[in-house]
Amino acid sequence: MIKENLEKVLANIKAACERSGRDPGEVTLIAVSKTKPVEMIREAYEAGTKVFGENKPQELRDKVPQLPEDVQWHMIGHLQRNKIKYVIDKACMIHSVDSERLAEAISAEASRRGICMPILVEVNMAGEETKDGIAPEDAEDFIRKISRLPNIRIEGLMTIAPFTENPEDNRIYFRNLKKLCVDINGKNIDNVFMCKLSMGMTGDYVVAVEEGATMVRVGTGIFGERDYTVVR
Ligand SMILES: *Cc1c(COP(=O)(O)O)cnc(C)c1O
Repeated sequence: MIKENLEKVLANIKAACERSGRDPGEVTLIAVSKTKPVEMIREAYEAGTKVFGENKPQELRDKVPQLPEDVQWHMIGHLQRNKIKYVIDKACMIHSVDSERLAEAISAEASRRGICMPILVEVNMAGEETKDGIAPEDAEDFIRKISRLPNIRIEGLMTIAPFTENPEDNRIYFRNLKKLCVDINGKNIDNVFMCKLSMGMTGDYVVAVEEGATMVRVGTGIFGERDYTVVR
């Protein structure tokens, strides 16, 4: 089932690229494996996916050693400063940076490990009160501030669009995230050249690809519904 789902998602991404004149090679599918057991991740790996996303630091830390070394792990969920240590040397990118204190703490931890951590800035495009992320109008200022930190590299922007039945409702947020990225790049801020856009989930990744996503984060569409009632 996972293999078929993956093939379907990849075919949808390819079709969306063709419709919008993009190269499918520009779009990375991140298989969001949160709450799912290692056996299912292994099944997806064997079907050809090597890029996974987790939203809980400890869960990521625990899963990493159980899978092959060539897996790339993305930290896509809210991160508390005291949990950076669980992911700093395991994740290839942190998608959810939305405060100066968090950015500073990531840079400091990366410095201790002698690495430079690729990050994305999370933007709350729809202004939803329940969601994390920087307001779009504050993004430039925020990026200027954190661009001075020595051990992070700001590679782009990420957004979690509202839950909706109709993915077309989210097109405007994806379009505006891309526009924001282009605008900020145009400011020629030292150390800032952002080319990555992490946007689109199971319900709306096709629209996100049409609007320029370079990373889509798909969980349910690959692994099926999540069961949060199971105690793990
Ligand atoms: C869970 C999650 C996803 C995947 O959601 P699906 O709707 O299952 O595809 C994507 N991004 C983030 C940040 C998530 O937490």
